[in-house]
Amino acid sequence: MARIYNFSAGPSMLPLPVLESARNNLLDFEGSGMSVMEMSHRSKVYDNIIVRAEASMRKVMNIPDNYKVLFLQGGATLQFAMVPMNLMTKNGKADYVLTGSFSTKAYEEAQKYGNVRVAGSTKEEKFRRIPQQSELSLDPEADYVHICFNNTIYGSRFNYIPETGNVPLVADLSSCIASEPIDVSKFALIYAGAQKNIAPAGLTIVIVREDLLGRVMPFTPVMMNYGVLAKDNSMYNTPPCWSIYICGLVMDWLLGIGGLEEMKKINEKKARLLYDCIDRSKLFSCAIDKDSRSIMNVRFTTGSEELDAKFVKESAAAGMSNLKAHRSTGGLRASIYNAVPYEGVEYLVSFMKDFEKNNG
Ligand SMILES: *Cc1c(COP(=O)(O)O)cnc(C)c1O
Repeated sequence: MARIYNFSAGPSMLPLPVLESARNNLLDFEGSGMSVMEMSHRSKVYDNIIVRAEASMRKVMNIPDNYKVLFLQGGATLQFAMVPMNLMTKNGKADYVLTGSFSTKAYEEAQKYGNVRVAGSTKEEKFRRIPQQSELSLDPEADYVHICFNNTIYGSRFNYIPETGNVPLVADLSSCIASEPIDVSKFALIYAGAQKNIAPAGLTIVIVREDLLGRVMPFTPVMMNYGVLAKDNSMYNTPPCWSIYICGLVMDWLLGIGGLEEMKKINEKKARLLYDCIDRSKLFSCAIDKDSRSIMNVRFTTGSEELDAKFVKESAAAGMSNLKAHRSTGGLRASIYNAVPYEGVEYLVSFMKDFEKNNG
């Protein structure tokens, strides 16, 4: 077996014990005589899987009882429309903080459904930092404030939770969900495509405060109505059964290693190792301000397109994949989600030092 270090921004690595458990149960899940891929989602055995996955997620993330956990499809991108359809229904307006590509996409999509305003942006500075609370101009009449907590493409992240008073705070946590403890009660709604940190593609997690349900725009498709999906426990129709199963295994894996406190320590240690290497290097640099740097997506560059391309090619030959950054930023990026082991980052750092020696 030859597994390589995969630094993909998503879909991305899953913990090895999770893959092994899935493999061991692939043909016959716990004596049911069938694969999870073949089960009726209405069967007792599958009901147990989804109920357990939710229970484990609630435990890992410490989700309060007055929040619903929804297992949906359509990716985080569908949430860009679902959020306004479900929540921009009181005053018909919302505030968006622009900190990168996905928050901008969310903002553009929401414009179709109401009066949407930019409440803060660092676009002029090429998104090299996150605006501080004092830089946000928030409308107390907005139906919600939307932020993207971790910016997958730019490699930045909020190091604080914005204070929005009585206005509900909505956050895209796609690339940082379950990477460290977070106070769910500070948010009205959290959403995340699962393929970055907690499951294969095909699953979208929504964690929503119950009092926000039930006031949708009249044309909202039934499959986009949080209230309906919550009432039927994510089973209005067939849910993404397999991805939910893997999500449950990942949550159990997190509980097994000591929960998010422990995961945070490991993630910070990995990020520190990599950023230290970049900051000490004369070849590599990181464009993101130190206090805004993501611990999940580390973006860096040699400053030369040719050298970056050489780095991608040689790192692939050395057993590391997906170190090329998103086409919109150029340069290099290592996504070091939960499942990327510390040894993977050590291996990358030692490769970077050799690369600098040979090309610096
Ligand atoms: C990947 C990503 C998205 C898009 O997710 P899909 O599931 O592909 O729609 C949105 N927001 C953030 C922060 C992401 O990292």
